[in-house]
Amino acid sequence: MAVIPFVPRIDDAPYATSQQLSPLVRRVIAENPSKFTYHGTGTYIIGTHDVVVIDPGPRLDSHRDALQRALDGCKVVGIVVTHCHADHSPLSQWLKESTGAPTFALGPHADVVFDADDVEEDDEEDEVDDTDSQSDEPRETIDVDFQPDVTVIDGEVFLTTDEFSLVAVATPGHTSNHLCVALQEEHALFTGDHIMGWSTTVVSPPDGDMSEYMRSLQKVADRGDAILYPTHGGPITEPGPFLSAYADHRREREQQILDQLAGGPKTIRDMVSVMYADVDKKLHKPARRSVWSHLIQLHRQGHVTVIDGDVPRRTSTYAAS
Ligand SMILES: [Zn+2]
Repeated sequence: MAVIPFVPRIDDAPYATSQQLSPLVRRVIAENPSKFTYHGTGTYIIGTHDVVVIDPGPRLDSHRDALQRALDGCKVVGIVVTHCHADHSPLSQWLKESTGAPTFALGPHADVVFDADDVEEDDEEDEVDDTDSQSDEPRETIDVDFQPDVTVIDGEVFLTTDEFSLVAVATPGHTSNHLCVALQEEHALFTGDHIMGWSTTVVSPPDGDMSEYMRSLQKVADRGDAILYPTHGGPITEPGPFLSAYADHRREREQQILDQLAGGPKTIRDMVSVMYADVDKKLHKPARRSVWSHLIQLHRQGHVTVIDGDVPRRTSTYAAS
């Protein structure tokens, strides 16, 4: 597999403290560590007096208080949400009410209907005692209440202060409404969960889409930003090699799926237990969803068929075309 040059750990970064990362960028990390959030959610504050907050984070009193301290003496002029997962958007409601600043996003979370067959039940997690498995249930992680005040459009300069301007970079894939934000003055891109500093991203159907995800990865690679600031993990200071390894990793996963199916029809569960044999079993459940998203893409391209139905489902049996 391609070796992704993940950035050094940021575990030394203290919680509830504002860290200055560049002349215009500060970060406050929420104390919500998990197998999906790494050390926690990194909330970014852009600017020195009129400021914009990107991804206020989870509903967590300690994080709310830390943000309040970090924002003391500043005027919040905008709140940007990269997407509506519960570790990113919920505190925007408090921040909006306490500052009067408008919220910006590509849109609310898509109105996704989960087919009963496609929701992975916790009791299926038979390989491991996964006590916090509720946390990765797709329905539970969505902040369905979030509605932006301002819907941004891909490519537009949507917010300007006397110090900086922010550009919307639509990056669907992790979710259909995922937004990255470019800080023009520092050639920096805030990547939300589209690109993470410590891990690959979960692309979970039906809202997650691997074809779109790969297009959005290429879109970011083509931009040539000097630095990427993910919500989880440290800043990526050499985006070029990182992004090409990140994309290669996905292509290799896709090839592994085709190799598996070359040996005969298989289910996603069969394939993941082989392909992810060297990965912590706690991560097999999200891995199954990512493999499913690859299979949907491969089915769309005519490379695989479903042998027990018409639609590529989570529980289908797949064969090479
Ligand atoms: Zn997310």
